Amino acid sequence: MTLVDTVGAAFVERHGRRPAGVWVAPGRVNVIGEHTDYNDGFVLPFALPHRIAVAGTARSDGMLTLCSVGSDGRAQQASPVRIDELVPGTVSGWAAYPAGVAWVLRAHGYASGADLVLRSDVPTGAGLSSSAALECAVALALLGLAGVGPSALQDSALQDTARQESVPRESVPAGPSRATIARWAQRAENEFVGMPSGILDQTASMCCTEGHALFLDVRSGEQEQVPFRSIDEGLEILVIDTRSNHALIESGYGDRRNGCAKAAELLSVPALRDIAMAQLGAALAELPAELAALTRHVVTENQRVLDVVTALRSGSTSAIGGSLTASHVSLRDDYQVSCAELDLAVDTAIGSGALGARMIGGGFGGSAIALVRQDQRAGIERTVYEAFRSAGYRSPRTFTAVPSAGAGQVC
Ligand code: ADP
Ligand code: MG
Repeated sequence: MTLVDTVGAAFVERHGRRPAGVWVAPGRVNVIGEHTDYNDGFVLPFALPHRIAVAGTARSDGMLTLCSVGSDGRAQQASPVRIDELVPGTVSGWAAYPAGVAWVLRAHGYASGADLVLRSDVPTGAGLSSSAALECAVALALLGLAGVGPSALQDSALQDTARQESVPRESVPAGPSRATIARWAQRAENEFVGMPSGILDQTASMCCTEGHALFLDVRSGEQEQVPFRSIDEGLEILVIDTRSNHALIESGYGDRRNGCAKAAELLSVPALRDIAMAQLGAALAELPAELAALTRHVVTENQRVLDVVTALRSGSTSAIGGSLTASHVSLRDDYQVSCAELDLAVDTAIGSGALGARMIGGGFGGSAIALVRQDQRAGIERTVYEAFRSAGYRSPRTFTAVPSAGAGQVC
């Protein structure tokens, strides 16, 4: 049974009737552009085939019921909540993500009551953005149950160069744009869950399209769907989920974010995005060492995104390997968000033939990606497993990622 079939069956089992619809939203990998989104910079994610599926029906009493069914079939049932009584701090645990989405949608006049059942094959807490997948799938479900789908159009101020060819047609009346729904989902995570994350994950889940990486200029909101056809060159993106998670995640993220804001203030610019490569040396000379290191990462990482986009536009995936590895070195040494497991995954992949590799996501655990030749992939995976065993680390999980579709209604 597919994920969509199983979530439908789980809904029938709990509620004794068929759901009114099923909505899905994917996790993501970020090819490059890490810790740049909250600096108004550039990112380049693509959507994973791994998704969260939400089956639902509307309720007329304003209540929201939530049940998450795990891959082992075990259900996590959240306490029912009244949507018009939701305020930040009233819901904790995983249910805060969907409840936060209902809270934001209600403020925009959308959410009424619903019964929602969800299932997922996005690894949780692995830096592959299960939280944004959850938010976006729930947002689409609640909007769909209110009778609207995302507008196929971007906000009028935005451009999407591939709009005509790759944004799916929506079958229900158009509501907010995909970019807007992404911002609402981010608001749920920032203000209701309390995680000060940037806009990368939600935009990836809402706006990515099959076969493309999404080049997003966070400041302008401008998007470009960049063909990502590594397979034409015999190359694959290998994801290595280290299954490590270090306690620093939340404080480490906030510290870096505050450090960047402080550096921008000292440099009298709105955001570190405004420091060009040519100005970097002069800018670094004005900053204390710790803030200089953060700044060097952000400015060089933005440039690496532009370099990778240029290479992909010219159809040369093999040319991006060096930028991936340089990104990892910068995240490890300047931004200091890597950890021993991520470094081992990256070093081992490169040492056994990968063209480039980097940690992805916030850091301090989670996943790395490696650009590998198809015929070397199995050998690289084996070597990574062996290296983790020798180091006494938990066994990692690996899989090959292909750029997949963004969020939508499937039935
Ligand atoms: P990531 O987004 O990288 O997976 P986060 O820590 O941001 O990591 O989000 C993980 C959290 O999202 C989980 O701890 C849980 O609260 C919530 N979550 C994700 N997937 C599910 C799911 N299928 N069911 C319930 N909660 C989920
Ligand atoms: Mg997350």
